Amino acid sequence: MTEQTDVHALLRPWGLLVLGSLPVSSEDQVPEIAPGCPARQLLLVGNGGSSFWPVFSRSQEYHDGRPNPLDRWSKRAGDEIALSLGSCAVYPFEGPPFQPFLRWAGKSREARQSRLSMFIHERFGLWHAYRFALAFSESPNDLVAETGFTSPCLECEQKPCLDACPVEAFSGGEYCVDSCINYLGSDPDSPCRKLGCASRRACPQGAEFTYLPQHASFHMDAFVETQLR
Ligand code: SF4
Ligand code: SF4
Repeated sequence: MTEQTDVHALLRPWGLLVLGSLPVSSEDQVPEIAPGCPARQLLLVGNGGSSFWPVFSRSQEYHDGRPNPLDRWSKRAGDEIALSLGSCAVYPFEGPPFQPFLRWAGKSREARQSRLSMFIHERFGLWHAYRFALAFSESPNDLVAETGFTSPCLECEQKPCLDACPVEAFSGGEYCVDSCINYLGSDPDSPCRKLGCASRRACPQGAEFTYLPQHASFHMDAFVETQLR
């Protein structure tokens, strides 16, 4: 039986955390761990704030100049940790078919949909990301969160996130990726490119976990490169 302390101990050297946990049902489309061995529990693993940045930014993947360094680093971490736990790692960037990470996040008790078309975490607010999930054939002891989480967006009257975007990318009620990418692509020195999305930075939930500038600009540069390719 896997204990929570085992998982945390293996994640810590990578700067990774358990961001969510959920029991698995057949409708969750979690791959079998092995033929005839269905998954019963899923842990969503990733970064809270810039937790992994000191490790990743010193890694071989970050410095080797090859494409997709963070995905390759995540794959190395996930495979190594899963092997130690007798688990199976699945990744949001492998496919098609791509695994339904957002569905899983919505089913976890630690994250809810925000007004910015992304999930908001009970501790890390908008400053988190899922790097992989660990599937277990049995429910590990004490891994399910004790309390549910209600989205702070439901009681956020000022909604500073919606006014912070320089191109009003959220004014239509959903994220307008074209407005955002046109702005980001036209100004490589904008605060969004250098410090991260201004709307995310305006949210008070988990603000102490705002990404480090180098971490934020790494993601923004990768986002622009992917969108403008
Ligand atoms: S600023 Fe308020 S409405 Fe916007 S994401 Fe944060 S909590 Fe939700
Ligand atoms: S990155 Fe900047 S332009 Fe894009 S949605 Fe966020 S605030 Fe708006």
